[in-house]
Amino acid sequence: MSVKVRFAPSPTGYLHIGNARTAIITWLFARKHQGHFLLRIDDTDVERSKEEYEHAIMDGLTWLGLNWDEKANQKDRTARYAEVIEQLKADGRLYACYETPEELGLKRKTQLNRGVPPTYDRAGLSLTAEDHKAFEAEGRAPHWRFKLNHAPITWNDHIRGPVEFKGEDLSDPVVLREDGSPLYHLCSVIDDIDFGITHVVRGEDHVSNTATHVQMFEAISGKAPEFAHMSLIADAEGGKLSKRLGSLSVKDIMENEGLEAMAINSLMARLGTSDPIEPFTTMQPLIDAFDFGKFSRNPPKFDTEDLTRLNAKILRDTEFNNVKDRLAEMGLNDLDENFWNAVRANIEKLEDSKDWWDIVNAPVISNMETEDRTFTAEAANLLPPAPWDETTFKNWVGKVKESSDRKGKTLFMPLRQALTGMDHGPELNILLPLLGEEKTKQRLKG
Ligand code: GLU
Repeated sequence: MSVKVRFAPSPTGYLHIGNARTAIITWLFARKHQGHFLLRIDDTDVERSKEEYEHAIMDGLTWLGLNWDEKANQKDRTARYAEVIEQLKADGRLYACYETPEELGLKRKTQLNRGVPPTYDRAGLSLTAEDHKAFEAEGRAPHWRFKLNHAPITWNDHIRGPVEFKGEDLSDPVVLREDGSPLYHLCSVIDDIDFGITHVVRGEDHVSNTATHVQMFEAISGKAPEFAHMSLIADAEGGKLSKRLGSLSVKDIMENEGLEAMAINSLMARLGTSDPIEPFTTMQPLIDAFDFGKFSRNPPKFDTEDLTRLNAKILRDTEFNNVKDRLAEMGLNDLDENFWNAVRANIEKLEDSKDWWDIVNAPVISNMETEDRTFTAEAANLLPPAPWDETTFKNWVGKVKESSDRKGKTLFMPLRQALTGMDHGPELNILLPLLGEEKTKQRLKG
């Protein structure tokens, strides 16, 4: 099976978490089948589309590691759209309508009040040549709708299984605006045909669009591609994703949240599937296990806490070489492999390495009672000789406890204060070997 898919963001905003999930899933499907991944920028809406967003979307995809084999912009394809539009007009599949948005709103309201489905009443279809002239004389320009056949529309969705719509239950979609510019539906279908898309993968908010697209595909090329519509992510309580979460952008996650790209990939690839959510440091295992058959039709719950947890686990499995440059960018040029190996299981985000680094390297100012200071200075004499590891602290504290009358808080707090200058903070068993004998003694003696 040769596979060609596309990810088709509109550059009217940043890549948000829901889009990113669509991109990840589409990409995994392509890579699983040695297919072709097209990045299609849906920028027909010239008012709202911005190059800044297009670049941010590309940066976001690149950061996630989702490379594309080809890129196309809809704004470069207007001549082709015009050609197909002329053909569809000649075939009698497009018809002109003159309603204003207010008039359409009113029709909708009346239908809803009468308890009938608010589908477009096709008034445009019965206009005579005189009616057209009269509207144009009023200064109205037409918008154009695609005339759906009133027949069953069916497809076998890779995620939702058999889907069926009746043509008569759907409004004829508007495909051409008053100003002559084509709308998303038609452009998308023309592109999917011309670029040879075999599978359209997108969110289930597009299911009823797809029903109308199927007829457009048939009208233009005789054949529709296959479809996979995934359920939309919900929040931790199962409700619609809040504005804040829903608009959480990859740019923000990348620049401000300090999360690893693989935490997002690991979560988004598996959310709502029957595979367990696990921390992965590369895409390959996600590609290998990918299968639309594993996706549930229920909306999966998304919790940012899951991202943080995965992030910590991913860092724990990350080799020094893979973070070295980023640590250097954070000013931690001297942080070496030993240091990384000691702290990586004890951080949630990469930037937490800086806290560890500072605790080990910055001077400690501890505020201690004289009595406590005498105690820590004496404890220093019980330190075992190097080499130290993560068991050193426990053994040492055992000895300190035996030789003093202290236990619990009165035993640990002064040691922590002397070593870190803080009442809370890093695990001392990890810290001790990082500090090494000399620094530890110095800090305990104050
Ligand atoms: N630009 C559309 C969107 O962002 C694309 C939908 C599609 O995949 O066809 O919703």
